[in-house]
Amino acid sequence: MGQFNTNEHVIIDDVEPPLIRSGESSDSPHPHHQNSRLSDAQYPLDGRIEEFRKLHFPDATDAMWNDWHWQLFHRITTYHDLCRYLVPMAEEEQALRQASTLFPFSVTPYYLSLIDPNDTQGSLRKCVIPSILEADHQSGESDDPLSEEHTTKVRGLVHRYPDRVLFLTTSFCSTYCRYCTRSRMVGGHTENLLKHWEEALSYIEEHTEVRDVLVSGGDPLTLSDEMLGYLLSRLGAIEHVEMVRIGTKVPMVMPQRITEQLLTVLKSCKPLYMSIHATHPDEMTREAAKACDALADAGIVLGSQTVLLKGVNDSVETLKNLFHKLLRHRVRPYYLYQCDPISGSAHFRTTVDKGKQLMQGLRGFTSGYAIPQYVIDTPGGGGKVPILPAYEVGQDEQHLYLRNYEGKVYSYPTERE
Ligand code: SF4
Repeated sequence: MGQFNTNEHVIIDDVEPPLIRSGESSDSPHPHHQNSRLSDAQYPLDGRIEEFRKLHFPDATDAMWNDWHWQLFHRITTYHDLCRYLVPMAEEEQALRQASTLFPFSVTPYYLSLIDPNDTQGSLRKCVIPSILEADHQSGESDDPLSEEHTTKVRGLVHRYPDRVLFLTTSFCSTYCRYCTRSRMVGGHTENLLKHWEEALSYIEEHTEVRDVLVSGGDPLTLSDEMLGYLLSRLGAIEHVEMVRIGTKVPMVMPQRITEQLLTVLKSCKPLYMSIHATHPDEMTREAAKACDALADAGIVLGSQTVLLKGVNDSVETLKNLFHKLLRHRVRPYYLYQCDPISGSAHFRTTVDKGKQLMQGLRGFTSGYAIPQYVIDTPGGGGKVPILPAYEVGQDEQHLYLRNYEGKVYSYPTERE
């Protein structure tokens, strides 16, 4: 899935989800695996979800709430919708009323239920409810900071690195992240990417150097089981494609989508990797945990990607908590992204020094598995560059001097070439 952003073409209105086929079963709640690790204390927001349901959807049965079609159908997409659940702040109201300036707004009832309506500075609230600050475009920002348009070979297919491609399969997401890198093209206000699938598949077939395909968007897990099954089977039939990755935020914003039928489709593609976009520990509810467990049980290799966001997750405690929760459910923290300079994202961006300090606060203080790689996706399309705090502090003819997590300096004998 895309890393993340805002732009100028905008709709604040409902957008139809692509491809929910009429024949697709909706009575297939996501698997409720028994898991001894799911103790109540670890999921403090579960009570809030229940209260929200009772208050706002008293007639919704468990089957309805746990049906992803129901979640999509009941998305909150307008200012008036939102006012039924919370009182928008002035900055939010301005943003939502200025339909001509902002990236589309959409949030599932499930994800909105995680937001405390009385906490105007809530982390999840900032992630999905527009603010007028998005209209503040600063120098150095761009609608396409990664220059994906320049490496787009056919519509929806970005070929930037030698052996892998990014396949943008849909422009739809159930919930729009305010810092989305691809907001220039997600939201249903651009051309429908589906009609370019065949061209993109032909390109991959013809380019035998492509061994890795990242299926992203938009959020590919909002596609129907049929469409996803078709896509995975076509990719699976290409001999030189050795692995497929899916980028998605669905397990965090609409975990109800992880149904037995979906797992059957995903299991048919081997090896399948999934990058789950996870932002804050509050997202790891019991439902999200079950979704991750079910995906892991299905043999899918799970990693996470997180965007570092000011006022949302820019503390060691928050990040550590998030990464520990992910690991408990077999999701390996993979990338921590410095927020891309997307138009209107200044209020989300931390300094790079802050990012390095956070990494320094993690390294050595928790398991290596809980530490993602901190990267900057270089503007202009240069690709990801890892950023590290200064651990190498000097070198002479015999030694390399290294600073450890406690600030102590150790030497390593170097060899002459
Ligand atoms: S889920 Fe959608 S809105 Fe959020 S970052 Fe991914 S592509 Fe962008």
